[in-house]
Amino acid sequence: MRDRLSRGSESAATAGQNRVMATELLYLRDAYLRDFDAVVVDRSDDAVALDRTAFYPTGGGQPHDTGTLAGASVVDVRKDGDRVWHHLDGGADLPAVGSEVEGVIDWDRRHALMRTHTALHVLCGVIWNEWRVPVTGGNMEPLSARMDFEFDPLPEGFGPRIEELVNAELVAGRAIEVEFLPRSVAVEDEDLIRTKVSLVPESVAEIRVVDIVGLDKQADGGTHVRTTGEVGRIRVTKTENKGKGNKRVRLEVVDG
Ligand SMILES: [Zn+2]
Repeated sequence: MRDRLSRGSESAATAGQNRVMATELLYLRDAYLRDFDAVVVDRSDDAVALDRTAFYPTGGGQPHDTGTLAGASVVDVRKDGDRVWHHLDGGADLPAVGSEVEGVIDWDRRHALMRTHTALHVLCGVIWNEWRVPVTGGNMEPLSARMDFEFDPLPEGFGPRIEELVNAELVAGRAIEVEFLPRSVAVEDEDLIRTKVSLVPESVAEIRVVDIVGLDKQADGGTHVRTTGEVGRIRVTKTENKGKGNKRVRLEVVDG
């Protein structure tokens, strides 16, 4: 995450400078932050940009948060450059630039996404450890997800086998740590090389690393739970052949 001026030195009057316009992404350091105060730094027809936010904007396969901002429903959250835009429900009056607003995250939805996102990392780790096969893509909704892997063909009995392996890691209650590494250090890390740290743009000086200790380590900007036990369990609902070297796993996250 880029360096920023301390919040106290910012105001709407200085918001014209790009550096100050960047939205501080509070969820990167605290995924458990459910409400926060922020200052409106810009607005459009139906959206406001804030100086800081706990709302996750759609990206990296994880959908945006919902919740309320100054009492109005947040229906979409998008990142545009360094700023996060919060789209409010059609009828809502937008708060003025310079005003302080309270944001509240829909915690049930967010926590379900954190469990789901973490489950996908466990799946990646398990598949790498067992078959040395990399992931090619994925997407998630609260408590359901799909992920594609470079298998050709899928191993015999694959669905039940990965369900068993993933659930064993969830029961094990592995710790999940978030750290921030200088780019020069991250690109030398074998686990991070394996999970394609090289795809992080050169302009990023500090890389956020999500480490399911002993299982899976990735450069990642998403939100995750603190231990694998908090995920619950997974159920593999389907495996699909999406072509040569591309096999899809669909799963659901259920209570443990
Ligand atoms: Zn991730």
